[in-house]
Amino acid sequence: MQVIHAKQALTKSGWKHDLEVAIGADGRIESVGSFSRTPTHRAAILLPAPVNLHSHSFQRAMAGLTEARGPYPRDSFWSWRLLMYKFLDQLTPDDIEAIAGLVFMEMLEAGYGAVAEFHYLHHDVGGVPYDNLTELSERIVAAAQTAGIGLTLLPVLYQYGGCDLRSLGGGQQRFGNDPERFLRLHADAAAVIARGVSDNVIGIAPHSLRAVDPAGLNTILSQAKSGPIHMHLAEQVAEVEEVLSYHGLRPVEWLLKNYAVDARWCLIHCTQMTESETNALAHTGAVAGLCSITESSLGDGIFNCPTYLDAGGQFGFGSDSNIQIALFEELKTLEYSQRLRDLSRAVLATPERSTGRVLFDAAATGGAQAGGRDNGRIELGAQADLIGLDDDNEWLCNRQGDAALDSLIFGGGGQNCIRDVWSAGRHVVKEGRHFRRDEIVRKYKQTMKRLETAI
Ligand code: ZN
Repeated sequence: MQVIHAKQALTKSGWKHDLEVAIGADGRIESVGSFSRTPTHRAAILLPAPVNLHSHSFQRAMAGLTEARGPYPRDSFWSWRLLMYKFLDQLTPDDIEAIAGLVFMEMLEAGYGAVAEFHYLHHDVGGVPYDNLTELSERIVAAAQTAGIGLTLLPVLYQYGGCDLRSLGGGQQRFGNDPERFLRLHADAAAVIARGVSDNVIGIAPHSLRAVDPAGLNTILSQAKSGPIHMHLAEQVAEVEEVLSYHGLRPVEWLLKNYAVDARWCLIHCTQMTESETNALAHTGAVAGLCSITESSLGDGIFNCPTYLDAGGQFGFGSDSNIQIALFEELKTLEYSQRLRDLSRAVLATPERSTGRVLFDAAATGGAQAGGRDNGRIELGAQADLIGLDDDNEWLCNRQGDAALDSLIFGGGGQNCIRDVWSAGRHVVKEGRHFRRDEIVRKYKQTMKRLETAI
């Protein structure tokens, strides 16, 4: 049994001092109380490790390759997407597994305990299915297993190139399935997840209202009776205009009018919502999946967080394109976007909770709900997804409670304070390093050298 002694720990009922947390053989928290046993580990600060609720792992390998001006009057999400399509046509199953391995390792080192992988790369170049329809889903599962990260696998239905039901363009063909083949793929992927580690979860992901028609959406929703449902929604102005012209309503309006959106749903981005859409989404109980660093990178827009929070909305965080995998930085970027828009400070803080506390609580609670994972809290019986931090350094200097969280998120050195990370009790980060770092990085570098010559 692993026994952690924490000087301070953020529990479901707030900050506690001198707390003993024991992890059982089933990867769950077996006891929480005052010091009574000999510790196997010590932490100055113990936090729940949140779910990273939105990732396309393969995009990590493009980080830094899309920052020069292209041959367009104005670079945008759409010109970035063309480069992404060109890039992914180089990727083999081995590459995809190697890149995902690095991503999942970096997520654990950043303090995430699990990931919801929004997995839309299903087929070979040109859209030719592999002999094994779930070849690439299995590569994602294998990478997660190598890294030891908890996985919520979200196989994605991607049918069309736009609301006009145009067929998929060259770069999109690797994503494509009709609903019938998708249901086979999803059932096979669910069987793979069921055979894997017990904390893995299967969900479902209609890609977006651009890529899925109502009939396809109805078919897959009627088959997936449980588990999380994730969808990109209202990310870009051109996307809102397209949905409005074909469906007569804006994306959030249309979805909420036609579907019983509830706590199973996680809507990714929602950076283009009106005030009334923001209130309506908050009242559904769904999670807004915010990816602040990628949304900044792609120029998506700014989420209307004060209105959403006032209406009781749930939100969590994902790293989406994985251009930078940094939990504390991700949280900070959301708050800074609000400050820049509102010309204000501490926008998300409440009288009871500091800005960092509000952000971290949202990441833990919203991430657990979106991932369909029983984590996000230090409490008896919860999945032992935990971050152990050191405070004897220049970034924390023994800070206490919410001030320590604020320092981790806004002080710039938060990630350097992470010593240990557990995912469902698996002790995967020790002394700030992933236990398989060298092997995973070696494989990733081999892939990148090959890609460099292929592009
Ligand atoms: Zn995405």
